[in-house]
Amino acid sequence: MTTLTFDSLNPATGAVVGSHPKQGPEAVSAAVGRAEVAAGWWAELGAAERRRRLLDYKAVITQNLRPLAALVHEETGKPVGDATLEIVLAITHLDWAARNAAKVLGRRRVSPGMLGVNIAATLEYLPLGVVGVIGPWNYPVFTPMGSIAYALAAGNAVVFKPSELTPGVGVRLAELFTASVPEHPVFQTVTGLGETGAALAGDPRVKKIAFTGSTATAKRVMAACAGNLTPMVAECGGKDAFIVDADADLKAAADACLWGAMSNAGQTCVGVERVYVVEAVYEPFMRELADRVSAVKAGESYGPITMPGQMAIIRRHIDEAIKSGKIVTGGPEAVRAPFVDPVIVEGVPEDSPAVREETFGPTLTVRRTRDAQEALELANASAYGLAGTVFSRNTRRAMELARLMRTGMTAINSVISFAGVPALPFGGVGDSGFGRIHGADGLREFARPKAISRQRFAVPGMNLTSFSRGQEELERLIRVVTFMHGRRKR
Ligand code: NDP
Repeated sequence: MTTLTFDSLNPATGAVVGSHPKQGPEAVSAAVGRAEVAAGWWAELGAAERRRRLLDYKAVITQNLRPLAALVHEETGKPVGDATLEIVLAITHLDWAARNAAKVLGRRRVSPGMLGVNIAATLEYLPLGVVGVIGPWNYPVFTPMGSIAYALAAGNAVVFKPSELTPGVGVRLAELFTASVPEHPVFQTVTGLGETGAALAGDPRVKKIAFTGSTATAKRVMAACAGNLTPMVAECGGKDAFIVDADADLKAAADACLWGAMSNAGQTCVGVERVYVVEAVYEPFMRELADRVSAVKAGESYGPITMPGQMAIIRRHIDEAIKSGKIVTGGPEAVRAPFVDPVIVEGVPEDSPAVREETFGPTLTVRRTRDAQEALELANASAYGLAGTVFSRNTRRAMELARLMRTGMTAINSVISFAGVPALPFGGVGDSGFGRIHGADGLREFARPKAISRQRFAVPGMNLTSFSRGQEELERLIRVVTFMHGRRKR
């Protein structure tokens, strides 16, 4: 007999946190059916009322911050403080999405151009209908909320499939929503394993999938979406680089680098995994790093590795790194399941899995480079392209390096600061995925542009879209177009 429920476990203790149904294709289909009806109601409600409801939902989450953070702590193992921070960030995004949806997506007139002088042109962004959100476990509130809040604000209904490791958090987010929107199931959570997500991605009534997770799973989800031409946002992993230029504030850089790499046990898609330090400041930077890392402890500064299967990957990357690299901190003995102590290895070859593949653990590789240009080239020589960091006191130089970094986001003189700025879009290139959540781009991601051109009056002698069009009108058109576009710029 098949098991109809599954347990979520506390990764630090193995204790059962909760039991949840494995919702199969029928249950997912029923949820999508309910969501379709709810989507119509939610869209009809109008932008102003949606804003009010979403701001109320924001207040409900804020009032439940402590118990929600406790649940995140139980299901992921991360410290309550980190869980709190994650929820606060999600709240700021929900607030921004609610407040900015009408401005970004609402109807506006656009210039019709010279040939359209008799046309009134309007553009607006309409809801898609039902949006399916498939989320990971590492930031079970912040990450899915980056899609859920923006999709809801854009007027869609959401069916959310949380990771099987954090189903309780997913269920709670939808439960809290009913306090603000009791009338219809505008936001539902379906629980289960990979098959539940696959059923959601394969449902033709789902008009967009917002997926956050590994690159390998994104490809499977995309294949399921292909059957119905369902569009998708793919927020996948990363191998983010951290560049320390010669004029960087080394104390601040070491502090930020360490937190960016080790916080949440390194289980952060935009976590620091590779560090490139210019020759001139390599030794003093490494001293700063070594000084600080001794105070960072697994089980105190950060929690356990949430997904047991990740242990083998982290272990393999450490083993590979130390084959030719030099250990600064930690080593194979740092892996003591379910915890991993900080590991820093320097001089690891660029073709090592520890430098090429996402480790998703509290580990760092550090390499010295001739200059910032070489650091940038090495940072960009990755299949991933999610985010990165530049430390330099020269704003112009730092901005230039940031722009040339082949990633969706770059932080200068701090880590991950872009994630806390709701107006900035979040997403990557290459194996890190495509599409954007957050910001105006994140709102538009969950809407379809609707273009309307209304003829206000007929221009005499210029009816170009008619079989009655004569040679004279064509000649006039050629004269106009030559006047407007015919002058070369040389
Ligand atoms: P996975 O790819 O294993 O899973 C992601 C989600 O997809 C889970 O809900 C999972 O369900 C579901 N899923 C699994 N198989 C299928 C399928 N065939 N069809 C549909 N859904 C499926 O990722 P993790 O949960 O392990 O998350 C870690 C990854 O997420 C890392 O690579 C990390 O970098 C990335 N990430 C990216 C972020 C970004 O914004 N770019 C942010 C946070 C994380 P189940 O758990 O039940 O298997």
